[in-house]
Amino acid sequence: MGSARAHSAGRYYDSGVSTLRRLGVLGGTFDPIHHAHLFAAEAAAAAYRLDKVLLVPAGHSPLKATAPAPAYHRAAMARRAAADNPLLEVDTVDVDRPPPSYSVDTIALLVERYSSAALYLILGVDALQDLLEWREPERLLDLCRLVVVSRPGRPLAIPAHIAAGLGKRAAHILLLRIPDLDISSTDLRRRFREGEPVRYLLPRSVEEYVRSHRLYDSS
Ligand code: ATP
Ligand code: MG
Repeated sequence: MGSARAHSAGRYYDSGVSTLRRLGVLGGTFDPIHHAHLFAAEAAAAAYRLDKVLLVPAGHSPLKATAPAPAYHRAAMARRAAADNPLLEVDTVDVDRPPPSYSVDTIALLVERYSSAALYLILGVDALQDLLEWREPERLLDLCRLVVVSRPGRPLAIPAHIAAGLGKRAAHILLLRIPDLDISSTDLRRRFREGEPVRYLLPRSVEEYVRSHRLYDSS
């Protein structure tokens, strides 16, 4: 059977870490996780025949100015979002170790853990902009492929300075057009704060979690 997922008795079962062929990794602050994140994971899995996509909540990103909600809340929301999709699994590798967490370190850890798998790091095209400021971008591209998904209002392309900076390694950057979903965690936090609608922008279970823990109430 070609896939690492076997369909049996109406449920998916993983045939185990060691047999994974292609593993997606979607990192993010996930503050909160929303439907564009989840659709990006689903679309990348379909396009590149990924057996699994790990959702990896970030620690405090060295490139983000404001502190996010505590990691355990962001991980709990990601778990809720993943609960009804056998493709998705939450991995807390980034929040379980001391900061700062760099993508290259995370991917290196996952390469060891999932030694049979080719890794595909999924990110939005906005996150590609500053790739050359990430730690060891060349090594990162030796360890995995980047799946760059489109995001509204931005061209889906590898910026010239990135292509020039990476040379041949730019071939490891794959561009994937997905439907424009103009959803962001920043806008969702504002919507929660201001009492605007959020339903259909993020999973219901995540909405309920945010409300029950009053994560984004105005202070
Ligand atoms: P924030 O507004 O707090 O930055 P965000 O919505 O951008 O939140 P992140 O957790 O920063 O969410 O994003 C995680 C990854 O998902 C990034 O690679 C980002 O580019 C991608 N992403 C987020 N929203 C979208 C979207 N609407 N379409 C495509 N990709 C997205
Ligand atoms: Mg963002």
